[in-house]
Amino acid sequence: DHVANQIAAGEVVQRPASVIKELLENSIDAGAGRIQVVIKDAGKTLIQVIDDGVGMNITDARMSFERHATSKIKIADDLFALRTKGFRGEALASIAAIAHVELKTKTTQDEVGTCIKVEGSQIVTQEPCVTPKGTCISVKNLFYNIPARRNFLKSDNVESRHIIDEFQRVALAHPDISFSLTHNDNELFQLPVANHRLRITNILGGKTNEKLVPVDEDTEIVKISGFVGKPEFAKKSRGEQFFFVNNRFIKSPYLNHAVTASFEGLLKDKSYPSYFLYLEVDPKSIDINIHPTKTEIKFDDEHALYAILKSSIKHSLGQFNV
Ligand code: ADP
Ligand code: MG
Repeated sequence: DHVANQIAAGEVVQRPASVIKELLENSIDAGAGRIQVVIKDAGKTLIQVIDDGVGMNITDARMSFERHATSKIKIADDLFALRTKGFRGEALASIAAIAHVELKTKTTQDEVGTCIKVEGSQIVTQEPCVTPKGTCISVKNLFYNIPARRNFLKSDNVESRHIIDEFQRVALAHPDISFSLTHNDNELFQLPVANHRLRITNILGGKTNEKLVPVDEDTEIVKISGFVGKPEFAKKSRGEQFFFVNNRFIKSPYLNHAVTASFEGLLKDKSYPSYFLYLEVDPKSIDINIHPTKTEIKFDDEHALYAILKSSIKHSLGQFNV
């Protein structure tokens, strides 16, 4: 029902960047190899995500806007063994409650695709359409029916910064997928399929490649790969600090501390090392906070993780004689 959807929307969708995050996660879940993001006016008037994933048949396309209809949580236990990113089954329903949404989608098996328009949680048109395999979702006029929230949005500069941050996190987590981001007809990113090093370099540009020191560790409780920046390239801000756990961006002040500690004596005051660290752990050993927008995580064995992370970065820095 529309009211429940609007309430859920308040949780899931804070700003245009939250919509991008949810749509990107869906495209990744759909096995996309290429994902294009197009936005207008910092996402306030248009957010469009186009993928070449599995697509939806007509029934699934209709169902995708039903709250919880598609939730992948079957039993509570699933939460701890989560492999796909979507698990709440409420993102599309929420977005459709607070924006004008157009869905075009087609599976490989179907000859024609389905085009659905939803306004205020209601399907207003549904017709067969010619469209390539995959899914294109356009979200227009975000918060059109909640003026208070629409007015609460920040300037286009601030909102597009949030979008770029979200886009970069997802693109860094999935170098095996090609991504593009276009804002008001300007192509901001065009990222070909790559490995981690190349993806990082393509996103951050400049001298990124020469500043990266590889980190590699394989233990029973965690597998660590990725890079830290050489100390002389440390930044005045925290902008280039990324942890990914099982291909999902997370924030962890605790693990951040481990990284900083491994740089002990190497950094100037008030400077922050860059890092792009990919951790793989047994999904059963983590607890992803199930609040829709949270990027926090709880590890069973965080002390051990801290120690392993710190020593493996120290080792890497030592090997590179920095
Ligand atoms: P969740 O991802 O938690 O299942 P969502 O509301 O984000 O819930 O999406 C609802 C459902 O719609 C998904 O489970 C999926 O079946 C379908 N869906 C959404 N986006 C896509 C997409 N880009 N490609 C294929 N299927 C999709
Ligand atoms: Mg989802």
